[in-house]
Amino acid sequence: MTSSNHVSLNQSNVDQAELDNFNRLSSTWWDKEGEFSALHKINPYRIEFIEKFTPLNEKHIVDIGCGGGILSEALAKKGAQVTGIDLAKEVLTVAKLHSLDSGVKVDYQLVSAEQYAQQHAQQHDIVTCMEMLEHVPDPQSIIQAATDCAKPGGWIFFSTLNRNYKSYLLAIVAAERLLNLVPKGTHTHEKFITPAEMDTMARQANLYLRDSAGIEFNPLLNQYGLSENVDVNYLLAYQKGV
Ligand code: SAH
Repeated sequence: MTSSNHVSLNQSNVDQAELDNFNRLSSTWWDKEGEFSALHKINPYRIEFIEKFTPLNEKHIVDIGCGGGILSEALAKKGAQVTGIDLAKEVLTVAKLHSLDSGVKVDYQLVSAEQYAQQHAQQHDIVTCMEMLEHVPDPQSIIQAATDCAKPGGWIFFSTLNRNYKSYLLAIVAAERLLNLVPKGTHTHEKFITPAEMDTMARQANLYLRDSAGIEFNPLLNQYGLSENVDVNYLLAYQKGV
């Protein structure tokens, strides 16, 4: 790992092929009709879900696996002080440039969740980690780091993809191969995480589940929305124990 595109890692919870894939597509991140259009479309629903539990104004937030900053900027626009962290260097460059362009201030840092958590333990009111856990070798370690970043009683929000036949058909076959909603090769079905697995990992990290919601896509209306159905893409709201 010597090239400048490769993060020199003393930590091992990284799949370099995943980062390469995101880096390769980074320039299209903010194209609302481009490769990451699905993230743009689901974003308002993620904000709606978070705001059901906590106001955002003046809250200190770390957005883990922030990518190009679609969620980070939306949180900052609500008045939060947001730090966005990711290990894909070119993606972070796109995030920084977009922030300069939009004038929405986010502090972007190239640092692992584990290292950031060590340096900023218990400093955040809210931690977000969306569409990221299914891209790392050890999601438990990220969940622990997210918990460590939060203040006691702080809110932690995850989203990921459930693992079952339906999610294989919808998130891989339909979304990647038939409808081109998501770039081909973005997801590996074996790395999807069931709500039961999330529950086990979250309990180990001393997190309390407050609510969950599905993010469903209606292909006929070409629209996303929140639902109670967590079969495919889903959101979880946790609170850290006090
Ligand atoms: N959370 C953002 C982006 C999701 S895409 C959103 O939902 O809008 C997944 C992101 O996770 C990519 O930016 C990728 O670079 C990042 N990622 C993958 N593995 C990572 C790791 N080990 N550490 C930090 N970020 C990682």
